[in-house]
Order: sequence, then C-alpha cells, then structure tokens
Amino acid sequence: MGTYPQIEINLTKLKENIQQIKSRCNACGINIAGVVKGVWSDIGISKAFDEKDLEHIASSRIDQLRELKEAGIKTPLMLIRTPMLSEIDEVIRYSDISLQSEIQVIEEIEREAQRQNTTHDVILMYDIGDLREGFFQIEELTRAAILIENSMERIKLAGIGTNLGCYGALDPTYEKLSELAEAAEHVEGAIGRRLKYVSGGSTSSFVRVLDGKMPERINHLRLGEILLISKDQQLLRGYTMPFMHTDAITFRAEIIEIKEKPSLPQGDSVLDSFGNRPVFEDKGIMKRALIAVGQADYGSLMYGNTHAIIPTDESIEVISASSDHTIINITNAEKAYKVGDTISFKVWYTAMLHLFGKKSIEKLYTKSI
Ligand SMILES: *Cc1c(COP(=O)(O)O)cnc(C)c1O
Repeated sequence: MGTYPQIEINLTKLKENIQQIKSRCNACGINIAGVVKGVWSDIGISKAFDEKDLEHIASSRIDQLRELKEAGIKTPLMLIRTPMLSEIDEVIRYSDISLQSEIQVIEEIEREAQRQNTTHDVILMYDIGDLREGFFQIEELTRAAILIENSMERIKLAGIGTNLGCYGALDPTYEKLSELAEAAEHVEGAIGRRLKYVSGGSTSSFVRVLDGKMPERINHLRLGEILLISKDQQLLRGYTMPFMHTDAITFRAEIIEIKEKPSLPQGDSVLDSFGNRPVFEDKGIMKRALIAVGQADYGSLMYGNTHAIIPTDESIEVISASSDHTIINITNAEKAYKVGDTISFKVWYTAMLHLFGKKSIEKLYTKSI
C-alpha cells in the first residue's frame, strides 16, 4: 500500500498513548506539554495531540510552531529551546509561552512584545546539574524572576523549569527534582506570589509519576518520546508499561535484492564508507535481503548498543547499513520474503527524528488497532 520507504502513523494507538500518560499525570496534578519536535511537528500527529486537550504543544523550533499555528492548532504553543536573538519576532508571533535562560533575550522579548502590542509567558530554566540550558545559581535565577516580575510589562513569569538527562544524562531522582521544587519556593518568596508552572523535565522524569516519587510542587512535564514511541523507559530503564503502544509509529522499506552470500567479505578489507574498519564473524552462508533505505534516511545505524531500527518480525535481524542500503539477515525468517515485499520496523528516537525530517518518505495515517 503506497510508496516506500514509508512511515505508518497509527493515530488510534497514538491517542491511546497520550490518554494513558495524561490520565496518570493529571491524577497527581501534572499538566503536559506534548513535544512534537521528534516528528518535525508532523501536522497529523500534532492534530491528534490537539484533540487530546493538553496544556501545551511544544517544539524546540519556531518554524515548526509557525506551521502548527498556521494549521489551526488550538492548544497553546510552547517554545522549548531558548530562542536566538535573531528570531524574537517569530517567537512572539508563533508561540504563547517559551523556556528562557538569558536576560538579554528576555529583554528583547519584552521590547518585541511591546512592538507587536501583545504579551508573552515565560518559564525560566534552572540548571540543577545536567549542564545544558538554564541559570546555574539560584541567585541568578531569582534576580531574573524579580526583573520580569517588577519591571516588565509584556512578559508574564509563568514558572520555572529544568531539563535533565540531555547532556549530563542525569537521573531525575526525587532528591534532584526537589531542588527544583525548592527553587520554585525561593522564587515565590522573592516575588510574593505562587508560580503557575513548575516544569520538571521530559520523558525521563515521567517515571517518577509511576513510582509515586514525584515532588508535589512539580506540576508540569514536557513529554515527547513516551507519547510517540514509548521505548526508552521500557527498553533501556526496565520500566514495564503494558498500557503503552511502542508501535504507534512504524517504518517500512522495500526489498530490492535477496541472495545467499558468505558472511565474510571475499578479499582484503580496507575502510568502509563511514571510515570504520568493520569486524566480521563467520556465520557461514547467509540469506540476506537488501532494502532500499539506509543511513541517509534514518541517521546513524546504532542507538546505544542496539540498531536504530528494529524489525517487527523477530525472526530477522539488521546486519549493517550504508547510506542507501540496509542489509537484513533473513536466514532464519519464518516468512518466505521475496523481492518487492516490505519489511516493517519499530524505530528508536533518533531514527524517528531523521525519518520525519525527510520529504522523500511517504506518510500513511491509519486508525485501526
Ligand atoms: C526535547 C525536549 C523535551 C522532550 O523530551 P522527551 O525525551 O522526548 O520527552 C522536553 N524539554 C526540552 C527542553 C526538550 O528539549
């Protein structure tokens, strides 16, 4: 059905995923920003997010939020990467709320909001040790909060937030997240009112909701991975979430060659097309299928220690890939694959990110389970 390579998006499964996470978060007072940057804010997916009535729909890129606004998305739009000074005009125009960590940028937002005769909400980022974005000292954070509160007319301080698990790969423990909660109370003391949002991170923080170990003051999470493909916490951190679909997004590619070949290259080997010297294991003659996709489509072949794309047929396996070809071992396949057949894959986050960024990949939206 359709042309290949192809991504199938099962909107029913996606909406069920959103509902499962939303109800668990809401039950402990947490609202969600649904993060769609991992699918390049695909409109079909973003509309599904919109229908589920989340607090925000978020992306790191303002051009994506612009597309969402123009597509008529009703949910308030959140920009989750500190903007460039050169894009403040669009930030005001196309986002309702943004994460901020530089006074200079915040001052420009105030000026631009004045120019456009509008207002803008901000969440100040507090770095509690992951060492990507955010104010690093509580005094600095508090000074920024007071500045907005007391001397800015167009910017409303909506809350504070943090990001974890991106650079420092920090575990969002109860103790770590409590540092954010305490910072929120410190800022509230300084400005003399309660903050609307205390935004406790991304998918890696969500598991504290499952553990029942989320500090009470955290009332907002920015979630992408878990809503879309729900693999990281289940396959890498050992959480079981039988209520989640890991196959709401499926990648499909077409077989262009099937042959029996030895598992060892014949002759002296040099470097492969990525500058590496590969190591081969002699597994005798193998039956191999070549599919018409490669790293030019889905990015790096590896995601940690696993392949970035995982065949849904468990009797076959990815062997390797170059830019435009992926080699699949079908020696033990239960099905009789032939040229022209397709092979389906689950995708890890990086593969999803690359695939959705490619115009050449067909998207198929389905509804059945
Ligand atoms: C990407 C991102 C998120 C969402 O991360 P997931 O792991 O997909 O849940 C949240 N916050 C910020 C600041 C991000 O950049």
